[in-house]
Amino acid sequence: MENTTKTIFGRPVQMGKKTHRYIQVGELSNGSPIYIPLMVVQGERAGPVLWLCGATHGSELNGIFAMREIYLESDPKEISGTIVFTPIMNPMALIRRDNYSFLDGLDMDTQFPGKTNGFNTARIAFQIFSEIRKIASALVSFHAVSSLSYASPYTVSKNISGVSPKITEKTFRMALSFGLEPNCRVKVDNKKSVNSGEDKGSLDEICQLHGIPAFMAEIGIGGHWEKRHVAIAKKGIRNIMCIHEMIEGKPEIPENQIVIPRRKELSVNKGGFVEMFAKPGDVVREGEPYAQVVNLWEVVEVLKATEKMYMITTTSNPVVSSGGRIGFAGLEWSKAAEHGFRNVG
Ligand SMILES: [Zn+2]
Repeated sequence: MENTTKTIFGRPVQMGKKTHRYIQVGELSNGSPIYIPLMVVQGERAGPVLWLCGATHGSELNGIFAMREIYLESDPKEISGTIVFTPIMNPMALIRRDNYSFLDGLDMDTQFPGKTNGFNTARIAFQIFSEIRKIASALVSFHAVSSLSYASPYTVSKNISGVSPKITEKTFRMALSFGLEPNCRVKVDNKKSVNSGEDKGSLDEICQLHGIPAFMAEIGIGGHWEKRHVAIAKKGIRNIMCIHEMIEGKPEIPENQIVIPRRKELSVNKGGFVEMFAKPGDVVREGEPYAQVVNLWEVVEVLKATEKMYMITTTSNPVVSSGGRIGFAGLEWSKAAEHGFRNVG
């Protein structure tokens, strides 16, 4: 977990210092450089390297502001180890507040570990990942739900075939230590070897395949700067720093923390306007209605739970066509304590 190299993007990391700069990761047709911002807080004492990433999806903004505040508020005197911030991973998607780069149409979070000779998004992914993975001890990848959804913040930790059980377990514990109530635990199969050169995936998956515990924090609603969700993300970052002994203190873990191993997308069969009866965090019992679709003169569909559901996200967009997505629900869940997880502080 120690910082074994002393440079990031060609510059030495100085003990006890906070630094920020732009890193050039490409060039536009008119010759303008493509930059990403990089901030580094190097504590006065050695310790782990926590990598915080945001805006791999360019519409997902709350993580950016959480990182900004943590950077501005951090005091190297109080920190053991290093925080590396790359809050704007995908500048070409951020510009349009979109999840896809406008240059090549790619979703960066499907492109890691990236390619030196790939399309623009893959090249940017490669430059950032190949540099920071050399020193990172742990990663938190910040995301948000669609701008047309409601959601309380939640984590996603992946159990990936091909990843050592130790890294999978560390990932899971770290995600729980972030301190949110809902925590999805997802199985991901069929990952190719990281050495095959063929695998492509999300940053957290590829970090895990390279031996770096990594999870996604879904912080609020895309396209928005939500102060209350930013505050939740900051608390999560501090919790992660506590469990890695980068700062003093105990993580704040909610009592009613749950783990969700099975989820499903919810969609409608009829077109019209959807009225949601359930909101994020609600439990809907089997047979209970959670939404209805109406047209201008009648109710055309009532959606009832076919099994017990924990609502993770619900749509904020009333306009639906048949097959329209109206939410995302957990179908199984259990208390974090049942997974042997206790407040590790
Ligand atoms: Zn995302």
